[in-house]
Amino acid sequence: MSEDSQAKKELAAIKGTKDILPGEVEIWQKAEAAARRTFELYGYRELRAPVFEATELFEKGTGETSDIVLKEMYTFTDKGGRSLTLRPEYTPSVVRAIVEHRLDLLPQPLRFYYMGPMFRYDKPQKGRYRQFHQIDIEVFGEKDPAIDAEIIEMAHSLLSSLNVTETETLVNSVGCKACRPAYHQALRAEARLKSESLCDDCRRKIDTNPLRIFDCKVETCRAVAEDFPRITDYLCAECSDHFARFRAYLDVYGLPYRVDPRLVRGLDYYTKTAFEIVTTKIGSQNAVCGGGRYDDMMKEFGGPDLCGIGFAMGMERLLSIAGIQAPPRKTLYLAYLGEEAKKAGMSLAGIFRKAGIECLVEFKDKGLKAHLGRASKTGAAWVVIVGEDELKKGRYPLKDMSSGIQTEGTPEEIMQSVKDRG
Ligand code: ATP
Ligand code: MG
Repeated sequence: MSEDSQAKKELAAIKGTKDILPGEVEIWQKAEAAARRTFELYGYRELRAPVFEATELFEKGTGETSDIVLKEMYTFTDKGGRSLTLRPEYTPSVVRAIVEHRLDLLPQPLRFYYMGPMFRYDKPQKGRYRQFHQIDIEVFGEKDPAIDAEIIEMAHSLLSSLNVTETETLVNSVGCKACRPAYHQALRAEARLKSESLCDDCRRKIDTNPLRIFDCKVETCRAVAEDFPRITDYLCAECSDHFARFRAYLDVYGLPYRVDPRLVRGLDYYTKTAFEIVTTKIGSQNAVCGGGRYDDMMKEFGGPDLCGIGFAMGMERLLSIAGIQAPPRKTLYLAYLGEEAKKAGMSLAGIFRKAGIECLVEFKDKGLKAHLGRASKTGAAWVVIVGEDELKKGRYPLKDMSSGIQTEGTPEEIMQSVKDRG
């Protein structure tokens, strides 16, 4: 490798991260705007937390035996000797913020949303990155299973506004502190019998966190786990009632779903409802949205006893299946001829921009032909030409670049015809 290409390689974006360039970024903006609009229609407010937090926040919140904490965190020691972690998920930060700012004193339920980058040391591949982006919502202080159904309905409302089709909603209940121990026992017993056929990781999980065996991506483990006992057969009366009512509310919304008793989700803190929206359109990284309830999390943080529920959507996966068209840009290119016209053009551009017209002025002196060539290269929709004669008259030619038709008018008339033609 030449020195030059070596240097280029060293300066390239880190594996598992990527640039979102103009051309693609408009699609992101559109999806983000749709998410904002949808969530605000349901009464959610944005809550922005920092990108890094104390490592123990995730150890405690995400769970010490979760894959995220065990294998995927970007943890570093800062110059003050503190252990910090780039957030791998958003929920612990929201819980911290609620406790820290006593947001629990506000009328409940609290409904928050957020969009931003998350960081996990995952194996980079299609649909799996190390810096990826999530759209996240959280509700705190609502026990009623109607909210479980409402957030799923809200997720679908967003998905359909982005023309995402061919999805399936998987739901489960992972029980609670009361019913999980008996289930763990039954699951452990069965897993020990089959431990020969499980991967090393799953063998470890038998003791630490047996539910998570269902989350293993190894095919043989998945096949073995097929015959394991089902959590839905072990739910206590409260969890069972919650699960039944939750599904009845999904029916109210007319949302089809499938009960998947092996759906456990990757994080340790879930109680009762767990769900995922998967797509049949992309290969193995097919979970677009994952969520569930975490009724004990806030209390375990030393905060108030406030139940919680939420979901996170993966932006990259979402955009790979969304039918979003970037809106066409409508730029007016301002061509000037000579120094006087340049100054007048600069003021004119200000008037156009105040009127909401995207206006491009370039500062390299050019002749008319060069200006037109450049306007066409930048994809401008219109060109306004400012020359000495035009300045004197106060009327300027307006060229429509797609039809080639040229008209003439005062700045006001130009603004009007640009607006009329969208
Ligand atoms: P997976 O089983 O695919 O690893 P997960 O259970 O780790 O998913 P969650 O923690 O539930 O994922 O995150 C919610 C959503 O974020 C996922 O459904 C997915 O769309 C997205 N996501 C998670 N990890 C990544 C990643 N490394 N790259 C891109 N998107 C991701
Ligand atoms: Mg994962």
